[in-house]
Amino acid sequence: MGFAFNDVQRALIHNVRSFVRNEIVPLELELDPDESELRPSVLDGLRVKTKQMGLYNLDAPEEFGGPGLDTVTRTLLAMEMSQHRAGLYSACYGAFGQPDMAQLYEATDEQKERYLHPVLRGEKSSFFALTEPAGGSDPARSIQTRAKQDGDDWIINGTKVFISGADSADFGLVFARTGDRESGREGITCFIVDADTPGFTVRRVIHTLRSGHYPTELVFEDVRVPGSAVLGEVGQGFAMASERLTKNRIPYAAGCIGVAMAAHRLAIEYAGIRSVFGQKLADHEGIQWMLVENEIDIRSAALVTLDAAERADSGEPFRTEVALAKIVATESSGRVVDRAIQIHGGYGVTKDLPLERWYRELRIRRIGEGTTETQKMIVSRDLLRGRYAGLMDR
Ligand SMILES: Cc1cc2nc3c(=O)[nH]c(=O)nc-3n(C[C@H](O)[C@H](O)[C@H](O)COP(=O)(O)OP(=O)(O)OC[C@H]3O[C@@H](n4cnc5c(N)ncnc54)[C@H](O)[C@@H]3O)c2cc1C
Repeated sequence: MGFAFNDVQRALIHNVRSFVRNEIVPLELELDPDESELRPSVLDGLRVKTKQMGLYNLDAPEEFGGPGLDTVTRTLLAMEMSQHRAGLYSACYGAFGQPDMAQLYEATDEQKERYLHPVLRGEKSSFFALTEPAGGSDPARSIQTRAKQDGDDWIINGTKVFISGADSADFGLVFARTGDRESGREGITCFIVDADTPGFTVRRVIHTLRSGHYPTELVFEDVRVPGSAVLGEVGQGFAMASERLTKNRIPYAAGCIGVAMAAHRLAIEYAGIRSVFGQKLADHEGIQWMLVENEIDIRSAALVTLDAAERADSGEPFRTEVALAKIVATESSGRVVDRAIQIHGGYGVTKDLPLERWYRELRIRRIGEGTTETQKMIVSRDLLRGRYAGLMDR
């Protein structure tokens, strides 16, 4: 493990950092503190700039018009892109394109034409519907949404809960059981469902700690889709979802670390200007120790996350490393923002600063994309099976 950045990475980090500071942060001064969207005309202007930088659709492989970056580089950029007020849930408001389209790169040509390319052009958006009311930690067992074959078509019935973005999306990836009750993970299939398909409804928006962009509850009542709506192969949906979730946990962790870095910077600056008891905050040992603890949390999380990214690039198994990164990054960034609030005193909890927003949003990150407990389960399974090659054994 060694993280001396190469010249390309350094230049990209510099470009993205300048973009965030010069283009995004000034825009946010005009926005409501909880706003997560920009006017389409403003977003279009930003996208013209990221296209000129060669960084539009940052996550896409070269054959789909992306820059074809490796995971380590994309992780570094994800840390930069989240360092603004809305950064955790709306990295640069989508100016760098739509992330998380990994499954659609494996789609049929017809599906790519209809769904992937419009998403890459910024014309369509999607949702990912795995979680159900019976539980999200163990989806293989808890999925009760069923899809039954009827001639060439499939008919889907069921309920999904906590699905992000479904109230505004054009289509969704919906996971349903196509095998019998005992079929477990082999009996789950992924379907692409257009949002205007009869029988599909958004039952309610679920208000959470997070500002704007709330998740939703979805109902599928005799939703008929053609055979061509199956993404991948029948019975392979769970493997596809697991792969997507594992990969996605790396940028998810990186976003948290970026926010922690931004909060830490605010705390250091404030400690240097605010005086209490006749001394700068920074001169009080109690404050110094909080700053050092923040530094420890950030560096540890960044190294563990970059290790997971490097492992993903190496082609070796990386599930355990990703689970560790998800735990360390989400837990430690929450602590960093909490300390940054404390250092700011009363101002820390006002909407004059982004800290209170990050505090609320980071709390969700210990639950979304696999809870801390389920990630610990992944790591412990490998440890106890003797399969885990620790850091010193690589
Ligand atoms: C804001 C938000 C957005 C979301 N967006 C999406 C989305 O777009 N698509 C989607 O499919 N899902 C989404 N989710 C769902 C999310 O993935 C689930 O909430 C999460 O996986 C946990 O599932 P659950 O809420 O059903 O908790 P449960 O599975 O019921 O777990 C309850 C508690 O038990 C703990 N637990 C579980 N297993 C174990 C164990 N073996 N040992 C010890 N403790 C355990 C959990 O960690 C948790 O603390 C979203 C959730 C939120 C809050």
